[in-house]
Order: sequence, then C-alpha cells, then structure tokens
Amino acid sequence: MEGSSSLEKLRGYFNQGHTQSYQFRKEQLSKLKAAILEYEEELYEALRQDLKKSREESWVTELGFVMAEINAALRNLKRWMRPERKGTNLVNLPSSSRVMKEPLGVVLVIGPWNYPFMLLMNPVVGAIAAGNCVLMKPSEFAPATDAVMKKMIEQIYPPEYILYVQGEGQRVIPAMMQQFAFDHVFYTGSTEVGRIIYKMAAEKLVPVTLELGGKSPCVIEADANIKVAANRIAVTKFSNAGQMCVAPDYLLVHESVLESTLEAIRDFIPVMYSAKPEEDDGYCRIINERQFDRIEKYLKEGKLVCGGRTDKSRLFIEPTVLRDVSPDAAVMNEEIFGPVLPVIPFRTMEEAIKIISRHPNPLSFYIYTSSRKKEAAWLQAVPSGGACVNNCSWHLTNHHLPFGGRGFSGTGNYHGKYSFDTFSHAKAVMKTPYWFDPKIKYPPMKGKLKIFKWVIR
Ligand code: NAD
Repeated sequence: MEGSSSLEKLRGYFNQGHTQSYQFRKEQLSKLKAAILEYEEELYEALRQDLKKSREESWVTELGFVMAEINAALRNLKRWMRPERKGTNLVNLPSSSRVMKEPLGVVLVIGPWNYPFMLLMNPVVGAIAAGNCVLMKPSEFAPATDAVMKKMIEQIYPPEYILYVQGEGQRVIPAMMQQFAFDHVFYTGSTEVGRIIYKMAAEKLVPVTLELGGKSPCVIEADANIKVAANRIAVTKFSNAGQMCVAPDYLLVHESVLESTLEAIRDFIPVMYSAKPEEDDGYCRIINERQFDRIEKYLKEGKLVCGGRTDKSRLFIEPTVLRDVSPDAAVMNEEIFGPVLPVIPFRTMEEAIKIISRHPNPLSFYIYTSSRKKEAAWLQAVPSGGACVNNCSWHLTNHHLPFGGRGFSGTGNYHGKYSFDTFSHAKAVMKTPYWFDPKIKYPPMKGKLKIFKWVIR
C-alpha cells in the first residue's frame, strides 16, 4: 500500500507544472504507445494466462483499442487544449469570454479484471492528455497482466508522475482515499463496489466517473434480419466468454421469430469456436473459481438450446443459450457476466418493456429491426447509457461517441474528446477591458431599477 509521501509526491509534481504543456503530454502519450509495442508479446502471454485470450482478441479489444485511443489523442490534443471562445451577453459587453481546459490534478484510476489492460489504460490516456498526474490501480484478479503493466509503466514514467499501485482493492483503495484527497476518481467495475467508491469520494467531495455494469437487454423485432442479428449477438455475447460489461445480457425475441433466432445462434456458435470450444484457441476461460461457480448455477435455470458443458479444472463454460427462463430466475435478475444467453419471447412491446424495466438504466441497449419507426420507439422507450441499432457493443469502439452508463450503470463518460473533458475542469474566463467602466454598475443603485428592468426584460 502506498504511504502518504508517495501520494504527496504526485501532488508536488503536479503543482510544479510539469504536466501542463502540450509538448509534455504529447511525449508521454508517445512513450505509452511505444511501450505497448515493446511489451506486445509479454502482454499477449499475460492475457492468455489470465483469461486465455488469443493474440487476435487481445489486439482488437485490449492493446489495439488503447493504441487507437492514443492515436486519437495525439491527433487532436492541440485542438482539445485550445481555449474555446464563447459569446458574451449584453450586460457584460465589451468583455470577451472563453472556456479554459484546466487539468484536474492528481487522479485515481481503478480498473477491473475483464479487460485488465484496456480498461485501466484507456482512461489513463485521457488523464495524461488532460495534463494530470495519475495513480493507477489495476484489478488483483488478472495477476499476469497486472505484473506486465507494472513493469511497463514503471519503465516509462517516474512514480511522482504516474504511480502504479497493486494490491487487494478493498484494503488498498479505502486506505488511499481516506488519507489523500484525489481530484477525481475514475472507477470501472461492479455496481456494488461503485457504491462504496462513491460514498468514500463523497466524504471528501471528490468528483467521480463510475463505469459500472448491469443487464444490457437486446431486442429482436419480427422484421429483423435474423441471420445477421444472430451472428452479431453471438460474437459479442461469447467474446471474452461473456465477461464483457456491454455484452447483450439477455435476448427478448418477438415470438414470431423465436425459433429461427434460436436456430441461427445455435448454428453460428460452432462456426466461431468449433464443435469443441474447450479446445479452441479463440475461446476464453472464466477468470476464477468464484466467477465460475456463480455462472454455472445459471445453467440450470432454463432449457438448454445449446451448450451447457463445463469443466471447472479448466475454468471452461461452453457458450450456452437457454430458453423457457422465468423472468424471476436469478439469471434474469443478476448481471450474467459469462457465456450464458437467456432468450425470452415477447408478443407486444409493452410486455418486453415490462421485463426490461425491472433493471432500469442499463449500460447498453440493443435493438434489431428494419423499421425506422420501431427503432425510434424502442430507443425512446429504453433509457440506457448507450445503444446500438442492428448491432451489439460496437458503439464503444467509436471514440467520437461518449461511452458511459446512467444511474445504476454509471455516471459520467469517456473515450476520445470525452475522456479529455472528463479529466479537465472547464474553467469559465471573462476578460474585461479597462476603457469602459459605466457608473450604472456601481452603488448607489437608487433610481436605476428602470434601466435594470430595461436591460433584463
Ligand atoms: P470489482 O468491483 O470486483 O473490482 C473492480 C476494482 O475495484 C478492482 O480494481 C478492485 O481491486 C477494486 N475493489 C474491489 N473491492 C473493492 C472495495 N471494497 N473497495 C474499493 N475497491 C475495491 O469489479 P470486477 O469484478 O473487477 O468487474 C466486473 C464488473 O465490472 C461487472 O459488473 C462489469 O459489468 C463491470 N464493468 C463495467 C465496465 C464499464 O465500462 N462500464 C467495464 C468492465 C466491467
């Protein structure tokens, strides 16, 4: 655990102004980019050890994802840092107005285990771009990736600028948050722990970004392209063995296309992972026994359409589709976060909305339909952090879009310019020339009401 002196060193480094310039920030981002390439092989190996991720999946969802975020920051940083000119209202003329993007100071970034590299590094890219000092806290449940990240970060950054702290979250994080007032806490992980972080931050009035989980619903309307829908749903749902915050948690399928949907998903799974996914290099494993036991219980809560096989010694759970699932079953009331997909038919939109409303404000919402009218009706009916139409999860790979939840699924957002803004303070600045200083603005005020009422009418 870090003593207060290391944390104070971060504060000292920030206060000395090192991180303010464009040049400095650009150099740090470039260093990170070069280090990712230098550590590429070690990171692949670590991600394979922690989650059995393939090199391809690791590049697309972890290393490459962060590279794309760095590239976007490097391309746009100068523009993002520029003060934004704003209009000035009548009473303040001839002043001029602008918004300065000020670094927050020392920020704490806390990562989860499911994308242990990307979900820790991506917010750090935003924090660096915005000119902050950072304390990085990875999840202790992906130890191989954690070890490589520590080595990499300590090689490229001095600890008074970016400090990497390992350890058990429930011990390390409260201790640090109690002894030190961070300028921002950026947390990714479960809603349960998010609540604890929020409370600790509130004690010191520290602003937070919370990237949480939840049950992201996926709806298939009668007019959807079933084959394409099934492929897109299956690829997202079973990627990383379902341990993805934006995975479609469950499917609501119009009853007229239920059978064809089930058939299409069942047929596509072996195309992706062969008939023996336990042997397939491209199929991930569950992170640990605790998660394995939790997910395995869901397999008994419906009728198997496909999958259902498990092997605890290898932390393997087959891609599984369930039907005849009760909305009251645990699998429909807890975030699944594993390769189990319950499918529930619906007749009317109202019926489906009733099921979705049991878990309001999901992180994502997915609707498959060919009708613009239905698309609009569904998007309006289901408030969510983000959404895709005729797709699942890909919205998060577009750094032009904000990524984040609402309510139970989180607060705040990031990616691209949104990350820069999250880690910056928007400072309102007004500049007033000396040459115009009308008496009307100074007391005595008696007798001026008529003019004031003319100005603000
Ligand atoms: P987690 O809450 O167990 O752990 C996340 C981090 O919190 C870790 O660094 C851990 O050390 C720390 N932590 C754990 N207990 C703590 C405590 N008592 N006090 C302070 N810190 C503590 O989450 P997880 O299991 O690692 O991740 C899975 C969850 O994260 C799922 O719910 C998933 O949906 C969510 N998630 C959300 C996003 C998103 O972008 N919104 C992304 C990935 C995962």
